[in-house]
Amino acid sequence: MTPRVKNDFPIELTAPDITAYKVGNTGVDYVTTLDSDTPGPHVMVTAAVHGNEICGPIALDYFYQNDLRPRIGKLTLAFCNYEAYLGFDPEDPTVSRYVDEDFNRVWSEETLDGPRQTQELIRAREFRPFVADADLLLDIHSMQKKTDPLMLSGPLPKGRELARGTQVPEIVVSDHGHASGKRMRDYGDFINPNSPKNSLLVECGQHWEKACGPLAIETMLRFLAHTETLSAEDVADQLEQLHVMRRSNEDSLNSMITRLIDRGVLEDVPPHYHYLACWALAQGAVELCFSRSWNYRLDSDDLMKFITGVGVTMGNRGQYRNLSDSKASAAKPAVDNK
Ligand SMILES: [Zn+2]
Repeated sequence: MTPRVKNDFPIELTAPDITAYKVGNTGVDYVTTLDSDTPGPHVMVTAAVHGNEICGPIALDYFYQNDLRPRIGKLTLAFCNYEAYLGFDPEDPTVSRYVDEDFNRVWSEETLDGPRQTQELIRAREFRPFVADADLLLDIHSMQKKTDPLMLSGPLPKGRELARGTQVPEIVVSDHGHASGKRMRDYGDFINPNSPKNSLLVECGQHWEKACGPLAIETMLRFLAHTETLSAEDVADQLEQLHVMRRSNEDSLNSMITRLIDRGVLEDVPPHYHYLACWALAQGAVELCFSRSWNYRLDSDDLMKFITGVGVTMGNRGQYRNLSDSKASAAKPAVDNK
């Protein structure tokens, strides 16, 4: 069981019942491979690498419920650490991350071939042939802290290219893996610059926030369309629905900001200037956080506090001066003197 951590976040998502997917067609529980019988890559989408993360199972459940099928190649869908996931309890949501150890830190050959026996290592060894065979992997995750969704593309240009092709989330972080153990998305040829094999890890937001589920679905659909596993027509309707959901968030954000402008709290500029400015600041802060050239600095916590302070006050009324305003005020006395 995972050590319990303090949690202040409400559980807005429902963890789908995945027991119907236990007996797949591969002989390995909770792993299903759909074959199009047409040549093409072996694409894989993985969920529940961490048992307390619900958005991945929501995305795979959506795939099954909508009866989607690969049009080329093979598609493997897997609930990785299903033992931990099946133990998820909304009343105590942080303890089901893993059973014995973090499933996403055991993916070096030495650890997989080593003598240790844990629930996660047994599962990783059983799942390893699928990971080794996959050409393209999307591994779906979420985060404990409330953070903008991120695509972790890995350190190589091929990862960044795949992230750009997938389009969402908008923030892409080119990361260098995890110091405390190798992740599944860094296994074997995924991080070999000379291999066409490629992988992404998406962090869809706070584990249990409402928006995390739809974003996981949208990322999966866009990834599958980009890799041509699904055709753009297959997913057009679904993407349109998801887009409407995202638009409704945007509309409510606009009306909230408009009310604050009307009350004189915020500068009177188009409402989207406010959230785009916040987004730009947050994106810069996230890049800074993950930047190797800057994060050695010991004062990064204070720096983040300072940036957050700037963020919460930057659109407030009375601070905004633009060039035409200053020209107008500079010209004014001259006019008065005439
Ligand atoms: Zn995770």
